[in-house]
Amino acid sequence: MTAGRMPPRVRIAPSPTGDPHVGTAYVALFNYAFARRHGGSFVLRIEDTDRARSTRASEEAIYQALRWLGLEWDEGPDVGGPHAPYRQSERSAIYARHAAELLRKGAAYRCFCTAARLAELRERQKREKQNFGYDGLCRSLAGGEAEQRAAQGEPCVVRLRVPEGGSTTVPDLLRKPVVIAHAEIDDQILLKSDGHPTYHLANVVDDHLMGITHVLRAEEWIPSTPKHVLLYQAFGWEMPVFCHLPLLRNKDRSKISKRKNPTSLDWYRDGGFLPEALCNFLSLMGWNPKDGSEVFGLERFLAEFEPEAINTTSPVFDLDKLEWLNGEYIRALAPAALAARLQAFLRRDLDAERLARIVPLIRERLKTLARFDETAGFFYAAELPLERALFQAARGLSDADRATALAVALALIEGAPAIEPQSLEAALRDLARARGWSAGDLFMCLRIALTGKTATPPLIESMAVLGRETCSKRVRAALELLAR
Ligand code: GLU
Repeated sequence: MTAGRMPPRVRIAPSPTGDPHVGTAYVALFNYAFARRHGGSFVLRIEDTDRARSTRASEEAIYQALRWLGLEWDEGPDVGGPHAPYRQSERSAIYARHAAELLRKGAAYRCFCTAARLAELRERQKREKQNFGYDGLCRSLAGGEAEQRAAQGEPCVVRLRVPEGGSTTVPDLLRKPVVIAHAEIDDQILLKSDGHPTYHLANVVDDHLMGITHVLRAEEWIPSTPKHVLLYQAFGWEMPVFCHLPLLRNKDRSKISKRKNPTSLDWYRDGGFLPEALCNFLSLMGWNPKDGSEVFGLERFLAEFEPEAINTTSPVFDLDKLEWLNGEYIRALAPAALAARLQAFLRRDLDAERLARIVPLIRERLKTLARFDETAGFFYAAELPLERALFQAARGLSDADRATALAVALALIEGAPAIEPQSLEAALRDLARARGWSAGDLFMCLRIALTGKTATPPLIESMAVLGRETCSKRVRAALELLAR
């Protein structure tokens, strides 16, 4: 997209209800990338028109999650900016003024229909299998009469007067223009009876007043766009470029939902995903570099991304793939950097020197930071919960052999001045050969005794980190268990 001569201004406009949604991060990422690539501005606007469901805690959580991902905004409720306030609940007077303008122009009208009448209308439309929508009863009220009734305090809403006959064309950067007959468009409520705006009015007014040039938002807003186009025309404003991003989907292709996928960004942060991996993953949901690579940093996305290249076929949000990608990012970190991430994530004071020795051993296996305890917990455990049945994994050995194997290995461990991986491994292999055991079985017995698990980081190197004393203590405990 050529951004024109003026740098673009883009925005995200999340509603602060519930947990910060992964869809918000996805849309934020694409807007952020577009703004950064063209030296434009990225605005964060809080759309809290749903007063009952919006909370400050949710707003705060959105900020934290986006900052965690590194998607900083240039203007927003918390950082201010030339178009403040950026929270819709603080802009009521602006919307009322604009609703009045539409009333004056005849592009909107007051509707006094009661909730009971609207419910009845809905019932009738349902019975007659018609589309739901307002039937236009109040469209023909004379302006003077309507203003008088409103002035006398009769509750009313303000509705968009969708022109009769004709159609509206909705342009979209990624799609062919869609032509919608006006008969298909409902006379949308713009201002509720409590004087607060609906999404449609507030969204269009703000996008205009905030100088938004490109609206990159999720596909689910396509059905609202004809109403927005009519509003821009009614105000006589230039429209932004609309670009609807493909919706994230569950594996079964339904719209991403909590039931089938974790949708809260907090879940990903607390689950030990790296923000850069999640950003990479989310950018893949609508874009691929030309060379087909899948692992690329934000820098590259910012440098190469153009909205025209967005792939509109519904991207599947595949958690397994995200885990794989996260593992790639974890492995790409230098050991010291990974150790620092782990310290920060676990908020535990892990002995830095020891951690630096552990990290290279677990890096290959670690899919998320949160799996640290599962993977490396045995290095820290005071006592290992051991199960006798586990030793059956050393399949080629009898019970008696397993005990012998541990006893002989114990002698080796205790006889050496220190655990020196190379010589210890050679000695263990010699031992297995001499006894006619497979080295694998011998190592398995030791692995279980030392870690309580059958699959672990490299054993001998782990033994060196555990130290001679811990190793001998654990092998003794295992021998006692086997002797019972
Ligand atoms: N408040 C809407 C949301 O929650 C904004 C949609 C738009 O970007 O226009 O996603």
